Amino acid sequence: MDGGASAFTTTEKQRELIELAGSLGREKFAERAAKWDREASFPFANYDDLRASKLSALCIPVDQGGFGADFATYCMVSAELGRYCGATALTFNMHVCSTLWTGVLADDLDMTPQQRETHNRRRREHYRRIVEDGAIYAQPFSEGGDAAAGKAPFGTVARKVDGGYILNGKKIFASLSGAANYYGILCTEEKPKLSRADTLYLAVPADAEGVSVVGDWDPLGMRGTVSRTLLMKDVFVADEAELMPQGIYFQAASRWPHMFMTLAPTYMGIAQACYDFTIQYLRGEMPGTPPVKRRMYPTKQIAVAEMFVKLQQTRALFLHAISDAKVDPTSEERMRAYAAQYTIMENAQDLARLAVRTCGGQSMLKTLPLERMYRDARCGSLMLPWTAELCIDRLGREALYKPGETDE
Ligand SMILES: Cc1cc2nc3c(=O)[nH]c(=O)nc-3n(C[C@H](O)[C@H](O)[C@H](O)COP(=O)(O)OP(=O)(O)OC[C@H]3O[C@@H](n4cnc5c(N)ncnc54)[C@H](O)[C@@H]3O)c2cc1C
Repeated sequence: MDGGASAFTTTEKQRELIELAGSLGREKFAERAAKWDREASFPFANYDDLRASKLSALCIPVDQGGFGADFATYCMVSAELGRYCGATALTFNMHVCSTLWTGVLADDLDMTPQQRETHNRRRREHYRRIVEDGAIYAQPFSEGGDAAAGKAPFGTVARKVDGGYILNGKKIFASLSGAANYYGILCTEEKPKLSRADTLYLAVPADAEGVSVVGDWDPLGMRGTVSRTLLMKDVFVADEAELMPQGIYFQAASRWPHMFMTLAPTYMGIAQACYDFTIQYLRGEMPGTPPVKRRMYPTKQIAVAEMFVKLQQTRALFLHAISDAKVDPTSEERMRAYAAQYTIMENAQDLARLAVRTCGGQSMLKTLPLERMYRDARCGSLMLPWTAELCIDRLGREALYKPGETDE
């Protein structure tokens, strides 16, 4: 089945990029995925391939050495990677967001001419590092409190000093910890009262003095993301480290909500992979297993039909939501994005569950990829700020209350 392309794939360039991701996935990432999972180690070899294929510069403008992909294209490419290696797709999301948010998103936001000029200059350098130096960016914003849910200012603070900032704080679940060259840190400018409006987005070099990675990493799924804890103690970064001008991240979070949907494509890919596995397995075509066909039983056919329906429902919402993405979406478009995120994250694990139930006991042996997909799929609905719970919270409120309405 065509995993990434569809009627929504309108350009040849999109099809080429999806095929590029698909060929890397099929020929290289799928086979390696078990190793990263078993060892909970970072997929460095996959990142060598992402650099060599230039996919690491997917959303960097063409005139600066990238593919110039937009939001929807990123989502389809990411879903294709997720089909073969969840941990690679999820970490690829963190990296690409550093270019997507500073690129096509920032272009849509209001800035003064001075801010725009400074931003364009700074991001040019940041893109150069990715294109020429092969730099990889992480995106740690979770802290264990209310900040990652978008309900409180980040507790990691940046004090303004001459020529830059001094950072102090802690980030949990920092995917790519120890592997990234830069950490795209969301933090709050230190003032007498911390405010979300003062959120800063700073590129902290991994080798800056005062940066350390601590703790172990032995989770249920997405083990190759190596999401350990990041500590920053009196870390100095220059003004040039600002990935967005002051106040612009806050503007982006309220005006470009689909920016928080970028994790979902990974799980769209896993959902597809669970279906792909089931078909191959029931046809007796799974490498490494005896050629025993199980497709002739009506119960299997019904189960596969139900999986197909669920997959199509999920994909339809995914494609609709990513084609909605823009600055200042309507209330319906914003709500559809929550609905899509919720559906993808919940249905990925349901498809994994159905795949195991339908294929049976031998299918969940660790010699086959399904049990890894089952564990990886479980992680999607936990990702802040749009966890499954918070999507439902937001949908319920936005359906029943107009902006500013209360019951008091
Ligand atoms: C494999 C993996 C990789 C990750 N990589 C990254 C990364 O690279 N960068 C990063 O920043 N984070 C990352 N995360 C973290 C992730 O985005 C969440 O922050 C994390 O899973 C939250 O866990 P918690 O136990 O601290 O959640 P808690 O904050 O304890 O929340 C538990 C649940 O309560 C609900 N909840 C939370 N806050 C509120 C609230 N204010 N109101 C109502 N309900 C609320 C949510 O539904 C949430 O799922 C990763 C997580 C995983 C599992």
